[in-house]
Amino acid sequence: MEHNELYTSLKKHLDAMPAGFPDCLDSAEIKLLRKFYTPEQARTALAFTAMPEPVSAIAGRLKIDEQEAAEVIEQMAKEGLLFRVRTSKGPLYCQPNFIMGIYEWHVHTIDKETAELADRYYEGMFERHWRGKETKQLRVVPVNTSIIQKDTVRSYDNIRDLVRGSGKGPYAVAPCICRVEQMKKGNTVTRPLETCLTFGYTAKYYTENGIGRELTEEELMAKLDECEKAALVPFGTNSQEITNMCMCDSDSCQLFRILKSYSRPAEEVHSAYRAEIDPSQCSGCGVCATRCQVDAILETGEASTKPGKHAYAVIEERCIGCGLCVQRCPAAAVAMVRKETVPDVPENIFAMYGRMAKERGSI
Ligand code: SF4
Ligand code: SF4
Repeated sequence: MEHNELYTSLKKHLDAMPAGFPDCLDSAEIKLLRKFYTPEQARTALAFTAMPEPVSAIAGRLKIDEQEAAEVIEQMAKEGLLFRVRTSKGPLYCQPNFIMGIYEWHVHTIDKETAELADRYYEGMFERHWRGKETKQLRVVPVNTSIIQKDTVRSYDNIRDLVRGSGKGPYAVAPCICRVEQMKKGNTVTRPLETCLTFGYTAKYYTENGIGRELTEEELMAKLDECEKAALVPFGTNSQEITNMCMCDSDSCQLFRILKSYSRPAEEVHSAYRAEIDPSQCSGCGVCATRCQVDAILETGEASTKPGKHAYAVIEERCIGCGLCVQRCPAAAVAMVRKETVPDVPENIFAMYGRMAKERGSI
């Protein structure tokens, strides 16, 4: 197979995965593939499916000796091109999504050119695979649910309940790929760098391959505190069982760069809540507006509790329900309100991918 044809086949192969692989401006997606895969690795990847399989099954499709296949495949897993799950019967390998997956696993090796190509990739991905789709790959988990009436909080909407406890460890943290991109492009990053959180078998993959470092439960809780202080929005896997959590901000993150450009960002995220300001309590300090990462809070012309200051209000169609504004309001004037229609959260990552693939028509 000629190389052009090979990378086009790889593109189609990745596009058949649940999160897809879009056409991008200036063929940025093909340029990314050429940077990530050697021709040999591209050919090997074509033999993988989204279902974890032993080397023997893949060697059969590659029509090569099992020992030889095991070495090539393991090397690709180490390089972040394949996902590996360890079982009592030996390792299983499968084809991951490009984002979130292969791209983030290259956080220690991306260069300036890759970071620039990624801008175009994200734009293509949002238009084709995110915008208007019912099931998103990530959902907002409010940072502070203590202010929400307890009986309305689902345990998987409470960030600390979601990430901690038996069965969710080990835990790992890695540098945020979006902030690394900014640094590669020569931009200043002021927020914490090490904020990409992973859980369970994904955390194990991160630590085994040197992508991230392991955290104790105590360190994980301290990390969440650090993220909350830095006004980072938790975007977790859109499932009741969590595998990944991004901590996003509008200065660096691709997700926010694109969400902010929409007139109704609330419609493009999975979130069960929205914020509401009580004007009779608001002192007009404006702190909430500085915390909000999607420009969802504006000063009104109405009087506040302080003479000469105006009350602030939340623009409902922009609010993505992160709760960052609630945390720092000195007058306790902001509350999180549960939306009338609460999106259904898939049970686990496999259910989420199944729905995404079905909505995209790839299964
Ligand atoms: S932080 Fe609270 S008091 Fe200050 S403007 Fe916002 S809602 Fe009003
Ligand atoms: S108004 Fe902004 S900071 Fe507050 S919950 Fe909505 S998106 Fe988050």
